[in-house]
Amino acid sequence: MSETHDVLVVGASAAGLSTAEALRRNGHRGRLTLLGAEEHVPYDRPPLSKQVLAGDWQPERARLRPEQMLSDLDAEFVLGDPAVRLDTAQRTVHTTSDRTLSADTVVVATGVRPRRLPVEHDLTGVHVLRTLDDALALRAGLSRSARLVVVGEGVLGAEIAATARKLGLDVTLAGPQSAPLANQLGPLVSGTLADLHSEHGVRLALGHLVEELTGEHGRVTGVRLDNGESLPADLVVVAIGAEPATAWLRDSGLTLDDGVVCDARCQAAPGVYAVGDVARWYHPTLRTMLRLENRTNATEQAQVVAANILGADRTYAPVPYFWTDQFDAKVQVYGRPGADDDTTVVEGDPADRRFVVRFERSGHVTGIVGWNMPKQARLRRREIVEALDAAPLPTT
Ligand SMILES: Cc1cc2nc3c(=O)[nH]c(=O)nc-3n(C[C@H](O)[C@H](O)[C@H](O)COP(=O)(O)OP(=O)(O)OC[C@H]3O[C@@H](n4cnc5c(N)ncnc54)[C@H](O)[C@@H]3O)c2cc1C
Repeated sequence: MSETHDVLVVGASAAGLSTAEALRRNGHRGRLTLLGAEEHVPYDRPPLSKQVLAGDWQPERARLRPEQMLSDLDAEFVLGDPAVRLDTAQRTVHTTSDRTLSADTVVVATGVRPRRLPVEHDLTGVHVLRTLDDALALRAGLSRSARLVVVGEGVLGAEIAATARKLGLDVTLAGPQSAPLANQLGPLVSGTLADLHSEHGVRLALGHLVEELTGEHGRVTGVRLDNGESLPADLVVVAIGAEPATAWLRDSGLTLDDGVVCDARCQAAPGVYAVGDVARWYHPTLRTMLRLENRTNATEQAQVVAANILGADRTYAPVPYFWTDQFDAKVQVYGRPGADDDTTVVEGDPADRRFVVRFERSGHVTGIVGWNMPKQARLRRREIVEALDAAPLPTT
């Protein structure tokens, strides 16, 4: 593709904006359009469950770029107008307000949307957290409530529980796993997370599925678990994961299977790429299809997509990485640790709440997790790279 052809990015957030910026940085001079469903200029999501929810940051502080940088990008931002259809052969996108946008290349960067509980009723006081508007609505709800139940003991649920607890609410964390992130990080790290939450006064109601949300006069009053236990609540947050925002691609002919399916170059079809949380691509060194929902991936994958749009032939093979902040714990997770992997504490001591754990499967390093030791964890990331270079990762 030439440097002057037109590019349309659908999804004006971390991955979409990073793709646009990388295109310009690498000499793209053609027309550049970013189409976004939300009215807001691009903002960052990690602070939504932390500083913004806590009220420590005003929403403007979560903006990804100052206005001047967005204007220097020389791109057209079409905001508040969700795409509803893609004609893949013509690379034409239709929007809710009946706009038709065409380009030589389309980049799908529409992220994910929160999964809902099958038992959800039309009750007020039940929240999800994905967007800035969600965060502001939840923050307002927290300020008027005393008892919060968070349904979902994954990263997002645990972060929301920690933030709400710090605000002084009576918080219960519910979900089927035995400890927060147990299925992802295994007993050592998730056990430490469980201790951390308990010590700060979060009540853990784990090991059970939510059977029902209860309500009175249209407002949520609690959560009933499958063991019959009732958890009273003024407010409920449902944080049970997310699904790729691909409904608008239903008739596009693209392969949709837990995301937009792409090759190792992040290409979904001729002239169509996917990037960020929505993209499921072939990871050439892990030798598997992968979709990552984390912030670093959004930026890193965008560099590869932009390079390939401009004619490079790069595959995308990152070491997956995410972080989470809960109370005073800053946790870094590199690679793909498994809950059943062997674990060795290689730095520090869990008793001191400063440690690094190495995860191994059949003698292969699969992951490194740092707990309040970011530098040491980052240095050990190379152990994952070396293991991958030495041999393919054994399957679980
Ligand atoms: C509350 C919260 C906290 C997080 N904390 C962390 C963390 O601590 N560490 C970490 O690594 N990651 C974290 N993440 C994940 C990280 O924010 C995401 O991985 C990242 O935002 C992905 O970027 P993206 O651009 O692919 O998707 P998104 O940021 O979801 O952006 C997709 C954009 O596409 C738009 N869109 C959707 N459908 C359409 C449509 N049909 N037409 C037009 N536009 C559309 C959406 O409105 C959205 O603006 C967090 C996420 C959330 C929600």
